Amino acid sequence: MFENLSERLSGVFDRLTKQGALSEEDVKAALREVRVALLEADVSLPVAREFVKKVQDKATGQAVTKSVTPGQQVVKIVHDALVDVLRGEEDPGALKIDSPPAPILMVGLQGGGKTTTTGKLAKRLKDKEGKKVLMASLDVYRPAAMDQLAVLGNQIGVDTLPIVPGQKPVDIAKRAKQQAALGGYDVYMLDTAGRLQIDEVLMQEVEDVRDVVSPRETLLVVDGLTGQVAVEVAEEFDAKIGISGVVLTRMDGDGRGGAALSMRAVTGKPIRFVGLGEKMDALETFEPDRIAGRILG
Ligand code: GDP
Repeated sequence: MFENLSERLSGVFDRLTKQGALSEEDVKAALREVRVALLEADVSLPVAREFVKKVQDKATGQAVTKSVTPGQQVVKIVHDALVDVLRGEEDPGALKIDSPPAPILMVGLQGGGKTTTTGKLAKRLKDKEGKKVLMASLDVYRPAAMDQLAVLGNQIGVDTLPIVPGQKPVDIAKRAKQQAALGGYDVYMLDTAGRLQIDEVLMQEVEDVRDVVSPRETLLVVDGLTGQVAVEVAEEFDAKIGISGVVLTRMDGDGRGGAALSMRAVTGKPIRFVGLGEKMDALETFEPDRIAGRILG
């Protein structure tokens, strides 16, 4: 569907006279192509613009190495600059969950993949780090969501807090905290209710839960295919709740991953994990290098 950026740039440079160093004109022409590639990858316009400006200063005047073509060289400069912006934490998968029982708050809109990701992350913590994990659903509006988490728990061998009909989210959170302490759990994960869009009642509810448990990590789960919307959602959740990281789901889809760049550039929050499918083991630590490669096509 997309033309490979390296090929496109080779085309640009073929039309220009070959020189020993990247001239301002060459770089400008190449970066026009880079900008188009970024926009096609669903990077927002202001972020693409700012990024290209940064790369332009870096690339102009660079000597062209003999072993590569000018096109390849610009791609490398762009790739490295992408990784630079995308890199958030030294080890994005290392959650701050010492001092048990450590609460992890999972937030996001409905349908973004929150419940699925809660299960995936619980499984990962259990299998890879040997943690004893308790999961609790706070979605009192959708009994099916509560059942969904219980089913996932059974499937992956992780305990879920027994469902008590009629309880408010804050009370469920308190019960989870107590149960986690009594049961000797290392981590307890709270799967909060989502809405189709952000509303005040939802935010207030999540704030109240946050204040009750003081989460060690607050992870926002967003659909990576929704691009700009995902970035806006992240900004709002961060302003109201304060998030410690982002999980981008549906990165197994055909999206080009541009949301990741906009997310980092606009919110400054680290992307911790990416969801790569519906299965419980389809969760990976975020790797800037891989996303950069995908954005460039
Ligand atoms: P929630 O409403 O935010 O809790 O969303 P769910 O966890 O129920 O997920 C909604 C749908 O998206 C389900 O059908 C999931 O299987 C699916 N889903 C979640 N994460 C991913 C992912 O990384 N890739 C794909 N392809 N599907 C996902």
